[in-house]
Amino acid sequence: MEITAIGGFDEIGKNMTVVAVGDEAIVIDLGLHVERLMGEDYDIARMSRSEMLSIGAIPDYRRLDGIKQKIVGVFVSHGHLDHVGAGTKLMGLFPGAPFYMTPFTAEIFKRQMEDEVKYKGKGPDLRTVTYGSKVSCGKNFVVEFIAAAHSIPDHAILAVHTHEGVFLYALDWRFDPTPVLSTKTNINRLQQLGDKGLVKGVIYDTTRIERDEPTQSESWAKQKIEEMIAGLKGEGIIATTFASHIGRLQTLIDAGERQKRKVLLLGRSMEKYMDSAKALKLINLRRASVWGRSKTVEAVLRKITPNNKSEFMLITTGNQGEPGSILDRMSRGVLPYTFTRDDNILFCSEAIPTPVNLACRKEIEGSIRSRGAHVHLGLHVSGHASGGDIDRFLKIVKPKNLIPAHGGIEKLIRARKRAEAVGFREEQVHLLHDGEALSI
Ligand SMILES: [Zn+2]
Repeated sequence: MEITAIGGFDEIGKNMTVVAVGDEAIVIDLGLHVERLMGEDYDIARMSRSEMLSIGAIPDYRRLDGIKQKIVGVFVSHGHLDHVGAGTKLMGLFPGAPFYMTPFTAEIFKRQMEDEVKYKGKGPDLRTVTYGSKVSCGKNFVVEFIAAAHSIPDHAILAVHTHEGVFLYALDWRFDPTPVLSTKTNINRLQQLGDKGLVKGVIYDTTRIERDEPTQSESWAKQKIEEMIAGLKGEGIIATTFASHIGRLQTLIDAGERQKRKVLLLGRSMEKYMDSAKALKLINLRRASVWGRSKTVEAVLRKITPNNKSEFMLITTGNQGEPGSILDRMSRGVLPYTFTRDDNILFCSEAIPTPVNLACRKEIEGSIRSRGAHVHLGLHVSGHASGGDIDRFLKIVKPKNLIPAHGGIEKLIRARKRAEAVGFREEQVHLLHDGEALSI
C-alpha cells in the first residue's frame, strides 16, 4: 500500500491524499487553502486551475503525474472548504472516476459546481453515500463511511478496506457524546476494526494536539450561548460563527427566538450553507431570515437603529475576521451600522491557528472594541479532537503505522511525541511533507 501526501501535511488547508494498492489508487479530499485567498479580492469561480495553483490555493496536482491514470474513485470526508473546496478545479483530472460523499457534502459540492464558470454541466459522476455504507471501488478497494462528529453535518471517517489491511482517514472529528444536529462518532465501529488488528495505517488530525483535556461536547457551547443571550435583555446582539456550523446556527436561532428577537442571518456564505441545510431539512429557521446579497444586507441594516437594537439579533459571517465579511465591513463602517456601548459581539468560534487567521481575528476584535462595543469570547467548542482525545483514539484503533496531518510541522512533531508516550515506537510514526510518498 502506498500513501502519497498531496496536500495538507505542511499546512492546515488543501487536504488531499492518494492511497494506492496494486495498479489502482483512490483520492481522498480535494481541499482549498482558504488562507491563501484571504485579503485579496479573488473571484474563485473565474480562476483557472493553474492560477489557483500559482497562489498555492489548491494542492499541487502535478504530484499526481504517474498516479492519475490509476485513480478509480474520489472520496470526500466532509463539506469544509479545506476538504472539498478545490473539487471543482480538480475534478477534470479524474475522468471516469466516480466521486463519493455524504449528502450534505454533496449538496455543498453541487452548489460550488453551479458557481463554476467553466463547469457547463459537465460534472463528475457524483454518488451520495450514507453512514455505514461500504462502497466497492475498482478491484482493490472497499471504502466505508464511518459516522463522526465534527462542526459540520455528515462528516465521515473513511475506512479504506484492502487485501493488505485497512487504512483509516481520520481528519477533523471529535468524540461528542451529546452533539447538536450532528452525529456521535461511531466508536464501536472503530473499536471493532482496532480489536481485530486490521488497521494498517491511519492519517489523523493534529489541529488541537497540544491540548490534554478532552474537547467539550457541542451541548456545552449550546448552554453557554443560551445563558449569554438570555442575559442580554435590552441590548444589541451580533453573533458570528462558521456559516457551515449548522448545529451552532440552530442554537443561535433558537436562543434569539426565545428572547422574542427578530433573527437575521447575514452574508453570502451564510446564505449558501443555509440553502444546502434547508434542502436536506437540517435546519429549522423558525421566523429567521437570511440575507446574502450586499444590497439587501445594507437595506436590512438600515432598519436597525440604536433605539430598536434589542428587537433584533444578527448572525453574521466574519468569525475569523475575514476581510470583506459582513462583520469586517460593519466594523470598518463600510456597512451602515452604528456600534454603541449597548452592542454585544458574540464570537462563537475561535481563530483557526494559522498566522493570517490569528492576525485578522485580533484586528477585528480591536476594531469593534474601539467603537465601544463589548466583545464576548469563549462561546465555542472546537470541532477537533484534543491531544488527549487522539491518545484515546489511537488506543482504540491500534494502527500499525501513524501519519499525523492537518497541523503543520510543529504539531506533527508534538503528535509523534504523544504517540510515543502512549506506547507507539518512533518508526511507526511517519511525518510526511506534501509531495512525499510512503510504502506501508
Ligand atoms: Zn473540517
